Amino acid sequence: MHKTLEHNGIADFHKKVTSLFASMSPLIFSALAWQCAHLTENPMKIIVPLKRVVDSNVTVRVKADGLGVELANVKMAMNPFDEIAVEEAIQIKEAGKAEEIIVVSIGPQQAQETLRTALAMGADRAILVKTDEQTEPLGVAKVLKGVVEAEKPGLVILGKQAIDDDSNQTGQMLAALLGWAQGTFASKVELAGDHAKVTREVDGGLQTVELKMPAIVTADLRLNQPRYASLPNIMKAKKKPLDEKSPADYGADVKPRLKVIKTEEPGGRKAGAR
Ligand code: AMP
Repeated sequence: MHKTLEHNGIADFHKKVTSLFASMSPLIFSALAWQCAHLTENPMKIIVPLKRVVDSNVTVRVKADGLGVELANVKMAMNPFDEIAVEEAIQIKEAGKAEEIIVVSIGPQQAQETLRTALAMGADRAILVKTDEQTEPLGVAKVLKGVVEAEKPGLVILGKQAIDDDSNQTGQMLAALLGWAQGTFASKVELAGDHAKVTREVDGGLQTVELKMPAIVTADLRLNQPRYASLPNIMKAKKKPLDEKSPADYGADVKPRLKVIKTEEPGGRKAGAR
């Protein structure tokens, strides 16, 4: 008696699951078909430029000659706003709105490590534009213009600023060189068709702008929480493609235009008075 009840229960459950799948499968198939059709119609690439900077936990010291900061034997890492930009690109791809994420760094050979970190997070392909010059926003923007012309992305997501020189210029300069729309200091990005709605963090509030794509977005702190790369993904990233190029390959000259005259450490804080 008990066994029969149990058997009937299992049979009922089995019937319900089968009929649920039977009713859901056309829906699932049409959703998949829509996604495939959408991607083939609109196979969007996203470019994310990454800068290798002094790790934010390191106490920066001025060099003895006062012409810059000490970089020898200092821990380096991906610029924190660029991690946010990579995460945003991955989330857009996961939502089925992009097909490929290409990360680009203009810097020394060691910038490869930064690119590999982004590949381990989920980017598909990397380009190292090798130079030993101290890069400045205009030179970087010129190289990126060349990369954009070669790759034809729908979106470029940069960090809002690099924490080493705090320039906050590269995204804006790239938008000007390309004649593209820009949504800077983004705290939310929503894509719909050939438009991007970007919520921007401005003084005293939020501003929402609609950009016609292709467009430039720069990531602010509250856009998302970047993921950590898992160990299996770090291993897989070693096999992802990483191309090496030079600024000349993109017709760009990255020689510095600025001359550093003096670098000073901030003065120590005075003790408070009681
Ligand atoms: P900046 O204008 O220097 O504050 O940098 C803004 C953003 O431009 C960074 O967050 C990066 O996304 C990008 N960027 C700046 N320098 C480089 C570089 N050398 N290589 C790749 N991307 C860079």
